[in-house]
Amino acid sequence: MIDWLMVEHFKKEEFTCKCGCGLNNINDDVVYMLDTARQWANIPFKINCGCRCKKHNKDVGGVTDSAHTKGLAVDISTPSDSVRFSIVSALLKVGFKRVLLYDTFIHCDMDLSKPNPILIIMK
Ligand SMILES: [Zn+2]
Repeated sequence: MIDWLMVEHFKKEEFTCKCGCGLNNINDDVVYMLDTARQWANIPFKINCGCRCKKHNKDVGGVTDSAHTKGLAVDISTPSDSVRFSIVSALLKVGFKRVLLYDTFIHCDMDLSKPNPILIIMK
């Protein structure tokens, strides 16, 4: 169980499935690592997407085995190149092993059943 009082920069709700189903199976280590990364980056992390139920994952076009459905992934908004730099450096420093870069957000996850370590530029 996550002790949310120990998490300085995020609220539990930020990781809840966006479809309204209420699912929140976010992984403890992912939250603690993210909190440390956020501390180091010293800029706000806007979580676009955390947990996803199977239905929502399908609705948004996620892959069947998405790390989002396992509570192991987050997408973080990146409004500029300098913000992307700060967030990526912090994520790598804190030990995230899977980082996928999109135009407007970063996907990072700790689903180590998938190839890692990887840094991919998504097109
Ligand atoms: Zn849902």
